[in-house]
Order: sequence, then structure tokens, then C-alpha cells
Amino acid sequence: MDTSIEGGERAGAGPVAEGVRADTATAVAPSSLSPSRASDFMQCPLLYRFRVIDKLPEKPSEAATRGTLVHAVLERLFDAPAADRTAPRAKSLIPGQWDRLRESRPEVVELFADDPEGERLARWLAEAERLVERWFSLEDPSRLEPAERELFVETELDTGLRLRGIIDRVDVAPTGEVRIVDYKTGKAPRPEYAEGALFQMKFYALVVWRLKKVVPRRLQLVYLGSGDVVTYDPVLADLERVERKLLVLWDAIRLATETGDWRPRPTKLCGWCDHRAHCPEFGGTPPPYPLPVRAPESGGGPEGRMGAD
Ligand code: SF4
Repeated sequence: MDTSIEGGERAGAGPVAEGVRADTATAVAPSSLSPSRASDFMQCPLLYRFRVIDKLPEKPSEAATRGTLVHAVLERLFDAPAADRTAPRAKSLIPGQWDRLRESRPEVVELFADDPEGERLARWLAEAERLVERWFSLEDPSRLEPAERELFVETELDTGLRLRGIIDRVDVAPTGEVRIVDYKTGKAPRPEYAEGALFQMKFYALVVWRLKKVVPRRLQLVYLGSGDVVTYDPVLADLERVERKLLVLWDAIRLATETGDWRPRPTKLCGWCDHRAHCPEFGGTPPPYPLPVRAPESGGGPEGRMGAD
């Protein structure tokens, strides 16, 4: 599993805000959707609530922070002239980018607070080097001139739903064809789970199509953890399908927001959830719901609505 913060987030710690901080005085309903938060809701509605409505803090993880560091290195390498975009050059960027990350996100320092000799930090940095080096076996940055890096995109659908995210890289061919590229520091999923990763890419493709009226020619996932490249060439029908899915998802999120009915959906992914202490599935109690509620309609909660897609 790739636990790095990707899919429209680039922070090194908890999820990007999609509303206003949710204490009882200032909490507001969510107003936009990113691929990560959409995936959260599909995984577990209660997890979405904890992240988006309650904004419960989450500890930085080694994997997520390393993902942020590697992304920064790959992005910055393109500042160099094409001939200088070598693996040694890329690896030489790691210490400086790690310093910058610690300055911008001081909480990541606690990851290695119990490592006075620096041995674990050294292993962690060495793994970051291996991930960066592996990229050169998958792509040749000296032959790439990205049109965009770390591109924030946002669009509004006809229903008013705002979609947003950060695309790692956009390549545009001389013919005008667009390729959307996302780096993953984890391993490629088994084929039966590939659709989850492609969902994020189709989400971005939908946003690009809505913004530019161009269907991206290719979606490309670069898995640095396993050395795999997964591609998908979307057609308009794919993007229309994703849009319909997101609208159904958003209806379910709105219903849960209004009723306060955020159901836990336990899976093996609970092992990575920071919020087990607040989760009824693990004997915990959620914090008081900070938004006004109305009585739920009979006939099933938000999960039942999602099944309509
Ligand atoms: S522990 Fe599992 S069921 Fe509970 S909130 Fe987290 S992901 Fe959902």
C-alpha cells in the first residue's frame, strides 16, 4: 500500500483542508472534493468526517513524509538544464529538500525524535535515494520538458461541486496531446486493485477536460516503489462516467453532512487509520458533531445512496 500523501495532497502531514477548521464555533460543511478525500469517503465515511469535518490531527508517517520529499526532489530536478538531470544530481538535492521540509513542516522532525544516533534517519534517507534512483530506470528526465509541475487545478461542475487537486506533472506534446503523470513512492497495486489508483488519474483528467476542453491522451502512474509504469488512455466516456460517480458520491457526502450519519466501514485499512481511538469499531467515541443536523430519512444512510452508481 502506498501510504504517501498523494492524490491531490502535497503536505507531508494531514489532509488538505476542504472547508474551515471544524470546532463547534466555525465548522462549515465541505464545499469541494479532491481525489484523496473522495477515496476517503469511499473507503470509510467516518474517516472522511474525521479528516474533513472534525479535522482531527494526524501524525506524520515515515512513508508519507518520504513521499513528499521524493516528490519535491523530482520536481526541483527540472530546474536544471536537461543534460544535468542525472541520478547523482537528483540524489544531491535530497539533503536540501529535507531541510526545507523540516522548516515548512516542523512536525516531521518528531518522526526521528527517538533516533539520537541518526541511524533510522540514515536508512530513511537511503530509501529516498533508492526511490529517486529508480525513477531513472522508468523515465528519462533529460528528454522531458514538463509543461507543468505540481499543478494546482480546480473546476466547478454544473451542479456547483468544486473539484480540486494537485497534478504532479503535465507533459504536452508538440501535437498538443496532454499526458498527466503521477509519481507514487509505493508499489504498484495488483491488477484487481488498479482501478482505485486510476480513479485519481481519471479525476484529474476530468478536471483538465472541464478546464481546457481537451481529453488527456494518456494517464501515467509511475510507481517508484516497485519500478512499474501503469498507463491508461482515457476516452470521453470514461470522464463522463467519473463525473457521474463523483456527483453520486457528493450527494452521499451532503446527506451525511446534513444528518451527521457518518458510518464506520471497517476494513484491513483500519490498521493505518490514526483515528481508531475515536472510532466506535474500536471502542472509541467520535467527538461531538460540530455541524447542525436534521433527522435522517428512512431507507438507508449515505452508503446506500452510493450504491446507486
Ligand atoms: S478505524 Fe477504520 S472504521 Fe474506524 S474510522 Fe478509521 S478507517 Fe473508519
